[in-house]
Amino acid sequence: MKAGAFAYARASSLAEVFDLFERYGGEAKILAGGQSLIAALNMRLATPALLIDINGLPDLAGVVVSGESVRIGALTRHRSVERSAEIARHLPLIHQAMPHVAHAAIRNRGTFGGSIAYADPAAELPACSVALDATFRIAGKSGERRVRARQFFKGLYETDMRAGEVLLGGEFRALQPGYRSAFLELTRRHGDYAIAGVAAHGKFKGGRFADVRLAFFGIGAMPVLAVSAGEALEGNRYAPDTVAAVQSAVSADLQAGASGDLYHGAATKLHLARVLAGRAVHALTGA
Ligand SMILES: Cc1cc2nc3c(=O)[nH]c(=O)nc-3n(C[C@H](O)[C@H](O)[C@H](O)COP(=O)(O)OP(=O)(O)OC[C@H]3O[C@@H](n4cnc5c(N)ncnc54)[C@H](O)[C@@H]3O)c2cc1C
Repeated sequence: MKAGAFAYARASSLAEVFDLFERYGGEAKILAGGQSLIAALNMRLATPALLIDINGLPDLAGVVVSGESVRIGALTRHRSVERSAEIARHLPLIHQAMPHVAHAAIRNRGTFGGSIAYADPAAELPACSVALDATFRIAGKSGERRVRARQFFKGLYETDMRAGEVLLGGEFRALQPGYRSAFLELTRRHGDYAIAGVAAHGKFKGGRFADVRLAFFGIGAMPVLAVSAGEALEGNRYAPDTVAAVQSAVSADLQAGASGDLYHGAATKLHLARVLAGRAVHALTGA
């Protein structure tokens, strides 16, 4: 199928983006890397009257480290994030996740902001952002606001973004002493969207876990922070009964929101989540 007719505008400033949004109302869509949007247009899942191309706004791209804060601009290509030495050093969870985001050709064009705004339930970067307790910067005609990742994802391809807003980027806290990350996912072929995955981040010091966040993806409509699984780890040592407690907490945390896809039922996904939880907890020990 071919896309329906639409107008195209390449914006040269954010002000121009907001003006275009105002003129076209809800009929305009941002075009970033186009890796998800163009497919949606061709399948007529989206029929916007106008595409606002933001690729002429270089200020939206790049990784900036300032003190303990790491900012990833919305227009930063997946490839740049994957190859960034700053990301490898300060955000090892994202560094581990990047090779799993689609295939190299898609990573060359796809953007950080596109992944976050599109909010595919099986995508890697939304889950990493939840596990790292990131904050997203969002701008509209009336100014800028910030939303924590765990409040940003609302449902299937649904986010807190409002009509006429642009995602500017994400802000993360750089890796702190004693903290480790583990990223695991299961796919039929490398580069596919995950059947099930987990982004894990937390402290393992003096043989005990603290402040561990396990964010699962591919299990339901959006990334889910397994809160009681984190509580089951708090202050505990790595041991079979700790792992068993975490796995049973994962079931409780994910059960209500779990749903199947074309190939795997909800029960299979929950089983895989428990398996991944066990592996992630082990990986966080660094052993
Ligand atoms: C075959 C294939 C396999 C893939 N596999 C994976 C995978 O395994 N994991 C994964 O995470 N992704 C995967 N993707 C998607 C890929 O990562 C895309 O790059 C990403 O989802 C969208 O990024 P984009 O820059 O291309 O966004 P676009 O396609 O340009 O836009 C996507 C949506 O986000 C909106 N948008 C984009 N940027 C902004 C912004 N700054 N502010 C507000 N709204 C914005 C657009 O309006 C649109 O609705 C795959 C894609 C393909 C084609």
